[in-house]
Amino acid sequence: MSKVITARDVEELIRSGGSLSSIPNDAIITPSARDTIRELENKAASTGGPVAASAPAAKPAAPGRPLNSKSPKAELEAFFDSAYAQDLKEQICQMGQRLWTRAYVDGNGGNMAIRVGEDIAICTPTLVSKGSLKPEDMCLVDFEGNQLLGTRKRTSEILMHLQMMKRQPKAVATCHCHPPYATAFAVAGIAPPTCMLPEYEVFCAVGVAPYRTPGSPEMGKLVADLTDQYNTILMANHGVVTWSHNNLEEAYWRMEIIEAYCRTIVVAGQLGKPINTFTGPQMKELLNIKQSLGFVDPRYGMKECELCDSGDWRPGVSCAVPAPQAATGPGADPEAEKLVQAITDQILAQGR
Ligand SMILES: [Zn+2]
Repeated sequence: MSKVITARDVEELIRSGGSLSSIPNDAIITPSARDTIRELENKAASTGGPVAASAPAAKPAAPGRPLNSKSPKAELEAFFDSAYAQDLKEQICQMGQRLWTRAYVDGNGGNMAIRVGEDIAICTPTLVSKGSLKPEDMCLVDFEGNQLLGTRKRTSEILMHLQMMKRQPKAVATCHCHPPYATAFAVAGIAPPTCMLPEYEVFCAVGVAPYRTPGSPEMGKLVADLTDQYNTILMANHGVVTWSHNNLEEAYWRMEIIEAYCRTIVVAGQLGKPINTFTGPQMKELLNIKQSLGFVDPRYGMKECELCDSGDWRPGVSCAVPAPQAATGPGADPEAEKLVQAITDQILAQGR
């Protein structure tokens, strides 16, 4: 009987130093094994080398002892030159490439940071396009913004990233850029309406910070104050900043998600049809998923009927759930209304 060769068999064969030519001619090769063989042959042809397995490279380990801004300079230097730090610097370059390729940054705009100790972070330099970052361009800063290492000068907007990390201890990475559709909402000073797409509801919790001069401590504070409840912050008349408790790529994903969302709803608003929204229970289900992923959101405690907000900008949209009446306002309780009327009448009578 012919031998069946699976993709795992092929990988195992190569890993143990074997050759593809040792697979018997009459063997039954599964489709995925065929794909693996083709991939290995293509790789061998392009490198001119023998067919070899590409075992995923293990990530370099974090330094054994946590560092901080007061750590001896030699220790900080050794860390900054380590394989672990090099990997993080390369991650920043990769995300920079993606930001630039997607036109989320313009000129030398946009900046990123990764927390690497109690009060230190690796960040992007100033005056370099995010599309042409190199690992050797990166800087090490303390949480006051003082540059500790790196030959290029750190980004002028670093204070905002650091204030976010100080205020939100879970934030390990931050990403800031100017994606056009999301920035349009930031220029209008409004958060996009909710209850329309699941990806956006699960990954992003969007707040709006008022405008202040980029790089000023006031700007950083206004953004940092929102990080308790929001992971995606529209900076009025400026752009967007996101944070993640996992890694830089996730902070970057939030940019893709908010930008795609803003673009979609702008187009949807032009279709001349009412836009459908989630029901309260559907929204609640998404928030349960979000909570299980450990993402912040100010709506966790809300009742289902309160979840679909009636935002400032909602062309053609009527929320599937009627907005709840303010519990404390007049009209909420006929007894209270009567009392208010009686007091008002009394005051008016005294004034005569
Ligand atoms: Zn900016």
